[in-house]
Amino acid sequence: QAKALGKNSLRFFDPSMQAALESRTAMENDLRYALSNQQLLLHYQLQVSALGDPIGAEVLLRWQHPSRGLVSPLEFIPLAEESGLILPIGLWVLETACRQIALWAGSSNTCALQLAVNVSARQFRHNGFVEDVKRVLQETGINPVLLKLELTESVVLEDVSVVIEKMHAIKALGIGFSMDDFGTGYSSLSYLQRLPLTQLKIDRTFIHNLPDDVNNANIVRTIISLGASLDLNVIAEGVETEQQREFLLQSGCQAYQGYLFCKPVPIEQFELLLAARIQLQKADSPNFKSHV
Ligand code: C2E
Ligand code: MG
Ligand code: MG
Ligand code: MG
Repeated sequence: QAKALGKNSLRFFDPSMQAALESRTAMENDLRYALSNQQLLLHYQLQVSALGDPIGAEVLLRWQHPSRGLVSPLEFIPLAEESGLILPIGLWVLETACRQIALWAGSSNTCALQLAVNVSARQFRHNGFVEDVKRVLQETGINPVLLKLELTESVVLEDVSVVIEKMHAIKALGIGFSMDDFGTGYSSLSYLQRLPLTQLKIDRTFIHNLPDDVNNANIVRTIISLGASLDLNVIAEGVETEQQREFLLQSGCQAYQGYLFCKPVPIEQFELLLAARIQLQKADSPNFKSHV
């Protein structure tokens, strides 16, 4: 029987497949090691209101690899999803973000910023997700309105009613939902209305050539008016130029995120930058009050 097995595996594992499999396994092991050896870290990217006031930040995962340097999530999130490692990694992101919210809440000189955490499809579908969220809220004692979860349309594609039920359970805790990369997926208007969302996040592919691209300009205006009619807040991601900001502002967009305001940076830098921005605003308007 051993011989038969040997034959099978020989037929299956040709050398190139074997190599691909080995490098995948190696990367998976690296990633597992990264998680337990503090090689994962979070960057924070500011979100501002139409007036330019800081209102929150998106939390973005990075891998500080010993030889490859800073690795983008685009390179390892797919592998994390396939391998299931996204479950412990996603939980670590959630815990770290909530601990940061708790730290800010305990210090007197920061604004009450809302943090947006990306949740992958597999993580959201996982049976223990709602319980995980509850536990992290309890452990950190944060005000749940300061946490927002970003879902993509792919999360909602399957089992719509199960997803809606889960979202309601989380919304009941006081947490909001943003539909990330909005416009790139296949959301139908009928179920968009059924989802307990708080925000639509316009994908940056629609932003980058504004206002010249007439199609994108129309799409953006349509998303903003859709948001208004569904009573959802609308944020634009990937805002890089003053012209883009101006167009979005004229079209009624309520919140902004992008390199024009600030790149995603480690927490120490983020706090410095925030302090500088708040100082600037205080100087600009004597009546400025932070949100605390
Ligand atoms: P996303 O959630 O759509 O995040 C926005 C991406 O746009 C980020 O890329 C951000 O750095 C980038 N960005 C922000 N402003 C600008 C801009 O003005 N111009 C341009 N060109 N890009 C801008 P990043 O950090 O590489 O993340 C890529 C994706 O990885 C994220 O897209 C998200 O889907 C995923 N991701 C990041 N962190 C996590 C995480 O903790 N969990 C999960 N499941 N996914 C994550
Ligand atoms: Mg996002
Ligand atoms: Mg996005
Ligand atoms: Mg995106």
